Amino acid sequence: MIIDCHGHYTTAPRQHEGWRGEQIEAHKVGKPPPPRPRITDDEIRESIANGQLKVQRERGTDLTIFSPRAAGMGHHLGDAGTSEAWASACNELIHRVCSLFPKNFIGVAMLPQCARVSPRNCLAEIDRCVNEYGFVGVNLNPDPSGGYWQDPPMSDRYWYPVYEKMVEYDIPAMIHVSASCNPTHHTTGAHYLNGDTAGFNQLMNSSVFKDFPTIKFIIPHGGGAVPYHWGRYRGLAQDAKLGLLSELMLKNVFFDTCVYHLPGQELLAKVIPVNNILFASEMIGAVRGIDPETGHHYDDTKRYIDQLPLSTQDKAKIFEGNSRRVYGRLSATIEKQFATAV
Ligand SMILES: [Zn+2]
Repeated sequence: MIIDCHGHYTTAPRQHEGWRGEQIEAHKVGKPPPPRPRITDDEIRESIANGQLKVQRERGTDLTIFSPRAAGMGHHLGDAGTSEAWASACNELIHRVCSLFPKNFIGVAMLPQCARVSPRNCLAEIDRCVNEYGFVGVNLNPDPSGGYWQDPPMSDRYWYPVYEKMVEYDIPAMIHVSASCNPTHHTTGAHYLNGDTAGFNQLMNSSVFKDFPTIKFIIPHGGGAVPYHWGRYRGLAQDAKLGLLSELMLKNVFFDTCVYHLPGQELLAKVIPVNNILFASEMIGAVRGIDPETGHHYDDTKRYIDQLPLSTQDKAKIFEGNSRRVYGRLSATIEKQFATAV
């Protein structure tokens, strides 16, 4: 089985994000939001069948670990109340996709985070998504202020309520920022990669893994700048007397393969141990074009992994085994969802 651990519902029916716009406008003028729009099963089916499912089939992947559109989380908009309603609507939609396509999609939750509001406010939504929807992970935004970094670093006990829940349920978090409202930081060109890199670095300078020895984080987009600068981080860890970087980080931190060219994948596979690499493409996402150098989509990352000089066993770990290990509830959820498929 080929499991893509990083996909977002970027093709949701238009009225979904339309409602979000109305909700934020209503909040600005102190009015209650309009009622949520009606979205039919057929509309969801169509948005997936002509979108992510089609691409899965074309590229020969089987299952996507699926979450709401990341740039759409917008934790810097509105307040904790609007975030709660929006996260709830987005997660419900993911649950409906997983119910309609139980063999192709398994859910991951976005959280109702809000800049400078304790992430304790996310716990009820995590409970709901795990217990009612069978979700297997969460996306955790290290910068809910959208490019202004107004919350404490991930090393801070501020985040511990979420870490406790992750350990309790054996669910990993993908460290994933949302849209940038800071014009100096382009959302997918700078802010995403900065978020990945900063998240890794914050965790490195922390006692999170001493306090939560079994916690697991996935750094998306190939780990931001981290694999390329592994030598820098090794040196920083050494200077700060933190010990060996690999021992410090690699029991708890994993990297996905959303890197959109072969040389980048080669570097990732050379620097990061195979056991810490999870296949992902983030389709249909930030980069949708075709690479004129290869004639294939930039985000068709399976092609790059296929070309790596790794054994079949190692590739099977990247494509399937590591995801089953890192997402502790994944194998049981696959069985459960597959049993409901017609
Ligand atoms: Zn993403």
